[in-house]
Amino acid sequence: MEPSFAGKVALVTGAGSGIGEATAKLYAAYGAKVIVADLNEKGGNAVVDAIKKGGGEARFVKCDVSQAEACAKLVEETLRAYGRLDYACNNAGIGGEQNMLADMSVEGFNKVIAVNLSSVFYCMKYQIPAMLQNDGGAIVNMASILGQVGFAYSAGYVAAKHGVVGLTQNAGIEYSAKGVRVNAVGPGFIDTPLLSQADAKTKEGLVSKHPIGRLGTSEEVAELVIWLSSDKASFVTGAYYPVDGGYLAP
Ligand code: NAP
Repeated sequence: MEPSFAGKVALVTGAGSGIGEATAKLYAAYGAKVIVADLNEKGGNAVVDAIKKGGGEARFVKCDVSQAEACAKLVEETLRAYGRLDYACNNAGIGGEQNMLADMSVEGFNKVIAVNLSSVFYCMKYQIPAMLQNDGGAIVNMASILGQVGFAYSAGYVAAKHGVVGLTQNAGIEYSAKGVRVNAVGPGFIDTPLLSQADAKTKEGLVSKHPIGRLGTSEEVAELVIWLSSDKASFVTGAYYPVDGGYLAP
């Protein structure tokens, strides 16, 4: 049986594009009202329009998740709009500066930590109390295969994603018994605008690292987020789930 999120409210960050977009649309398809949060107004509003066209309910909230106050406001606006918060997918992220560690700028390192890691702390800090006001909830943080292993020229990104896995474990330990399950998803390389800088040869190289022989799709990641959010995953918390075409298997 498919999960039903009727009467529930889901918040997705970075929902104006790629994995976040697919996740927001799938939450809506299963009946949740969705807050589409993104820095990118054009992308976010387009996702809201698509959800509404499909008969769902959604609202766009502009939010820079690297700012704690903006994350607090995002949760306030969610409660003002829909009165509750049941599910959150903390997904917004950037690729960040690519350089050998000693050549990586301090600004570049700090930026990817702010957008990809501190944001997850800020979001959970405000989402968890909001969930506890009602029936609890479920949080899915977007890590990466690079939350488990390294990747050359990406020290900041790799450090941030390892941090997301650690934050997820801690939140799971602290809040599962209170009614908020917290898990992390680790996509392999997924064909989204995030990979738009990669040329054909680089993409080929990335494909070769996935035993399944291709990159993933945003929808394949969204399916795992939905399952982890749903009651079908009622005993799953504090955990990391790869969705990576076998990248981590060898
Ligand atoms: P994407 O298509 O670039 O979408 C990310 C969205 O987040 C964009 O709309 C982006 O806006 C937005 N965003 C960027 N900085 C933000 C901020 N400070 N506050 C709010 N929104 C912000 O990327 P994606 O591939 O779907 O990636 C989503 C998540 O999956 C990221 O956390 C990424 O690290 C993770 N992931 C991706 C892959 C992959 O191969 N694609 C693999 C593993 C993990 P702009 O368009 O304005 O930048």
